[in-house]
Amino acid sequence: MNVPELFGSMVFDDATMKERLPKETYKALKKTMKNGDPLDINVANIVANAMKDWALEKGATHYTHWFQPMTGVTAEKHDSFINPTDDGKVIMEFSGKELIKGEPDASSFPSGGIRATFEARGYTAWDPTSYAFVKDGTLCIPTAFCSYTGEALDKKTPLLRSMERVSAEAVRVLHLLGDKETTRVVTTVGPEQEYFLIDKDLYDQRKDLILTGRTLFGAKAPKGQELEDHYFGSIKPRVMAFMQDLDEELWKLGIYSKTRHNEVAPAQHEMAPIFTTTNLATDHNQLTMEVMRKVAQKHNLVCLLHEKPFAGVNGSGKHNNWSLSTNTGRNLLSPGKNPAQNTEFLLFLAAIIKGVYEYQDLLRISVASAGNDHRLGANEAPPAIISMFIGDDLKAVMDSIISGTEAVAAGTQKLELGVDVLPDFKKDTTDRNRTSPFAFTGNKFEFRSLGSSLNIACPNIMLNTIVAEELSQFADELEKADDLDTAVKALIKRVFTDYQDIVFNGDNYSPEWVVEAERRGLLNLRSMPEAMPHFIDKKNVELFTKHNVHTEREMYSRYEIQQEEYGKVINIEALTMLDMAKKDIFPAVSAYVAELASACNAKKALSESIPCDAEVKVIEKLSKLLVCFQNKIEALETKVNEAKGIEDVADQAMFYGKEVFGAMNELRAIGDEMETSTAADYWPYPSYAELLFGVR
Ligand code: ADP
Ligand code: MG
Repeated sequence: MNVPELFGSMVFDDATMKERLPKETYKALKKTMKNGDPLDINVANIVANAMKDWALEKGATHYTHWFQPMTGVTAEKHDSFINPTDDGKVIMEFSGKELIKGEPDASSFPSGGIRATFEARGYTAWDPTSYAFVKDGTLCIPTAFCSYTGEALDKKTPLLRSMERVSAEAVRVLHLLGDKETTRVVTTVGPEQEYFLIDKDLYDQRKDLILTGRTLFGAKAPKGQELEDHYFGSIKPRVMAFMQDLDEELWKLGIYSKTRHNEVAPAQHEMAPIFTTTNLATDHNQLTMEVMRKVAQKHNLVCLLHEKPFAGVNGSGKHNNWSLSTNTGRNLLSPGKNPAQNTEFLLFLAAIIKGVYEYQDLLRISVASAGNDHRLGANEAPPAIISMFIGDDLKAVMDSIISGTEAVAAGTQKLELGVDVLPDFKKDTTDRNRTSPFAFTGNKFEFRSLGSSLNIACPNIMLNTIVAEELSQFADELEKADDLDTAVKALIKRVFTDYQDIVFNGDNYSPEWVVEAERRGLLNLRSMPEAMPHFIDKKNVELFTKHNVHTEREMYSRYEIQQEEYGKVINIEALTMLDMAKKDIFPAVSAYVAELASACNAKKALSESIPCDAEVKVIEKLSKLLVCFQNKIEALETKVNEAKGIEDVADQAMFYGKEVFGAMNELRAIGDEMETSTAADYWPYPSYAELLFGVR
């Protein structure tokens, strides 16, 4: 395999454009991409035609506007290139108009009241900053999705807006500090993606996996992850074949797939790409998840991206590594050799510290979902409390600035370490805390609370906007200062002092932290229904509207969509459980009991003296459990019906999260206990042992 040749071969990227577009057209397009100007229709026509010719060579017959509606998954509606001619034949055509704008019927995408059906039309608009690509014989054009009244109906539009904002404010601050060269700042992201691989034949036998992506019943396997023998373990041949195929497909799509390894839970794995700009990283991560699912099928495997497919072993997350980088190539979160003297770094750090403190709720909300609620705070993922880890060295710098002893402290710190010539202030001292939700790891922050299936646009919209806001406050203050140097120092000291409570370098999994965080007044929003109402708090509405990232109407619509979706997910899970319980599990256990009873009768017919005590014990145990199981079924049915009648979305989400979910857990507990006493031949589903250890 010639990787450099393969890489990006299915992408209409910069090199391809340069090669295939007339010079003038290429220049005009690049200008649009750089400045965000509207694209001239004549230019668009030439680009579209070149794109089509290229796509035809790659085997494409169709094109689609590829977008990211509020469902979280990507959407596409394919149109073929065919155009009839007079002689009853067709030619393949693609116009600039079709490239720039699409009009999918928007009425069936969630919009949370923004788009009543009478104004059902929305349109997709090409985002020329993300390259078009060919996937499954279709030319995919990355687009943003808006309503005709201009509101965003997707995740991409607010992401692009937030990137603009953070760039503008960061440039303002940099200019003040004397960097006049930088004209743009981009946020960069490298998302580490976890997933499970299980055998497809086993998957096909489980309604719960098929309908909900996670197991709703299933007793623990005799072996779980306790031996810690899977993490970084050698990769099984079938999994390896999948990973090789995956890399190849991702590379073709221009995705920088870099590392692959086994994760903590059995059957769990991870892929991490090299970081890129947030916009591209988001598109690429969406594509990655899709390609993972498809490639798995080819290997008769199923890729599970649910946050918690199996109880009792770790679920899957996604680490969002995030930084800021100038168009001159500088990473603004690089502390350099001596962070204590690095004013620029300290100022950006201060902005992030203040932002994370003031908008803990938004960061928590950005990762909230029914699936992720299983993980946060469950000692496998960071808690629901948002705090920051900055490492001991940086904490020492911060403390010395707060106490006004900076010069001395910077020196002592080095001596204490016994290292005079650190090559760079690097991750050695900053990468050790795996329990923190938001950790500084040398030259970037790693936001670790994301669930595996999340569209990373959500947390990055929040991060970008929060930091834009803090930087704009800093710039406002510093622009008025007489003596900039003194003002910057005072600002850093003040922010570190006032917001230091958000920094926590200890063990985030410990129960003591929950108590300590409460003492510090930090938020602990345990579940999605508890967190979500804060989205529309006054300060948050002000933040997003001030920066034009969301309108107030968009915020309310997102608030509604998220809560509704949460309820729908739990409702589907509850109905699936009821179906499994009533149609499969109850009859199976009952049949097994009948089998044991008839075995007793057969023995007794032979001779009254043959003991049946063992059968009787099991019959008794299972019969009692069946009574209990039936009661729990009825209890869950009652809760599901009650939930349906609740009008208010927030109340309804809360009810699903507490009452319905609670009743589901009770039903599961009895079901799992029956599984441990029922003969394997009778149990209707593959066991956890088969699912987790079935791929060899
Ligand atoms: P680890 O595996 O220890 O978490 P790595 O340095 O390998 O750390 O980084 C993990 C992820 O962080 C990768 O996806 C990588 O591309 C990304 N990353 C590294 N530097 C940056 C940066 N400046 N901005 C965004 N992401 C980054
Ligand atoms: Mg990492």
